[in-house]
Amino acid sequence: PDVQFIPDPEKKTLVVLGTGWGSVALLKKLDCANYNVIVISPRNYFLFTPLLPSCTTGNIEHRSIMEPVRQILRHKKAAAKFYEADATKIDYERKVIKISDNSDVKGTINETEVPYDMLVVGVGAENATFGIPGVREHSCFLKEIRDAQAIRTKIMDCVETAAFKDQDSAEIDRLLHMVVVGGGPTGVEFAGELRDFFDHDIQKLIPDIAPRFKVTLVEALPNVLPMFSKQLIDYTESTFKEEHIEIKTKTMVKKVTDKTIEAEITGPDGKKSLITIPYGLLVWATGNAVRPLVKDLMSQIPAQKDSRRGLAVNEYLVVQGARDIWAVGDCAVAGYAPTAQVASQEGAFLARLFNNMAKTEALDTKVKELSSSLNVRPGNAAEITSEIESLEKQLRRQKDIKPFHYSHQGSLAYIGSEKAVADVAWFNGNLASGGKLTYLFWRSAYLSMCFSTRNRVLVAMDWIKAKVYGRDVSRE
Ligand code: FAD
Ligand code: NAD
Repeated sequence: PDVQFIPDPEKKTLVVLGTGWGSVALLKKLDCANYNVIVISPRNYFLFTPLLPSCTTGNIEHRSIMEPVRQILRHKKAAAKFYEADATKIDYERKVIKISDNSDVKGTINETEVPYDMLVVGVGAENATFGIPGVREHSCFLKEIRDAQAIRTKIMDCVETAAFKDQDSAEIDRLLHMVVVGGGPTGVEFAGELRDFFDHDIQKLIPDIAPRFKVTLVEALPNVLPMFSKQLIDYTESTFKEEHIEIKTKTMVKKVTDKTIEAEITGPDGKKSLITIPYGLLVWATGNAVRPLVKDLMSQIPAQKDSRRGLAVNEYLVVQGARDIWAVGDCAVAGYAPTAQVASQEGAFLARLFNNMAKTEALDTKVKELSSSLNVRPGNAAEITSEIESLEKQLRRQKDIKPFHYSHQGSLAYIGSEKAVADVAWFNGNLASGGKLTYLFWRSAYLSMCFSTRNRVLVAMDWIKAKVYGRDVSRE
């Protein structure tokens, strides 16, 4: 039902920061009738990140994996408010959030405050650069829609510039050298998508420069995909060899300039040497760092002083040392990897917890009312006492909510050439598989996990379109 948001002074105000995996999983299951729900995020849509690497080459169009948050909220039983804004400060003492509209179009008011009774922080993380010089200025990240769009544009810019009349030979090699830093799943999936793009489309459209195209994946550790089993790491590395993706392991990037990266390689004898690698496109995928908003909140709470990777939370996802603040997803440290799977389970857990808390409070109030009516209506004492007992029994059951427990369903990653790797939970054990069948499993699993039927249809149509007509190489 299309209902207006009218704050009820009797209810607590629950503010949710972010519209990512954690916050949206919470909103999906939350009974908004119990609270005055306010959602704040600079992004007015949910983004299905697992398919973001496919948007960098146009295998999937970016709007197919976005779901407007206003659509999501519209389907709730009770209305919730959404503000498109960045939370710039959480004032812990005053229980107030400062928000700012940082989009291009601004009104006369673009900064204000939102008070809260309960707060859920689900702002995710930012890209780690480790302060390495030149990274922010010269590389592309792969976290948001605009990152994927920038990469898509830059790939084609490099290709068209390499094909420019009388282009210098060494310059063609540089422009067509695509370097990916970080051998985690983001870097691996992107490298695979990139190779596919060249092998399927660029090869056909610009055959004269295509043989000089090169992808290099740079990783500081001795192997890529550390979270996968040894067998799948080996499979990925051998598949990359076949796809002519060069993996440079034990190679730590130290500096980035506009046309080169400088890295330290540790040789088999343990000796270190410096190399300079020219590149046309550089994609930086070295994992997560804590957002300034979260760092600032941590500095206001003494119990968070030893936490480095984000807000330390207890087993109910309460921010340790804080009152009325919960955290989910990549900004929370609960002892799990920063994945969509963890974030969405945490969000769903908080929804159950809050729905439960509301029920408990309602029961509590009823017990109090009945207890006070005992004095007014002594004739009905037996009846009222039995009702109180029954309510208290319900209350004990409600209060007995189990702590958050993460259930790992497995890890999946696309590695190019229509192959994927999967480490999945299987009848109390683990099943590791890699190859074309796993790729079909990857496709069907991600299709079924898309946010809405609309997303599913769009993604399936994009796949068919790219297969039949090839990827669209127009540079926007
Ligand atoms: P996010 O989903 O990042 O959402 C954070 C939200 O907070 C966003 O809406 C953002 O706009 C908002 N926000 C940011 N700053 C502020 C602010 N100041 N105020 C208010 N709101 C703010 N995980 C998997 O399990 N499987 C996968 O296959 C997988 N593939 C991935 C592929 C890529 C390319 C990437 C980058 C990640 C992938 N992940 C995957 C990881 C997964 O996306 C993250 O773990 C997940 O998004 C974390 O969810 P979150 O809700 O904590 O943060
Ligand atoms: P990651 O943290 O998993 O990997 C980053 C890699 O970069 C590490 O292996 C690290 O050793 C390397 N690195 C760091 N600094 C370096 C340097 N200076 N030079 C060279 N290498 C360097 O990061 P990610 O791949 O972005 O993933 C982030 C999170 O999202 C992870 O939890 C991951 O599991 C999740 N994710 C999952 C999937 C999937 O399941 N398919 C896909 C993408 C992301």
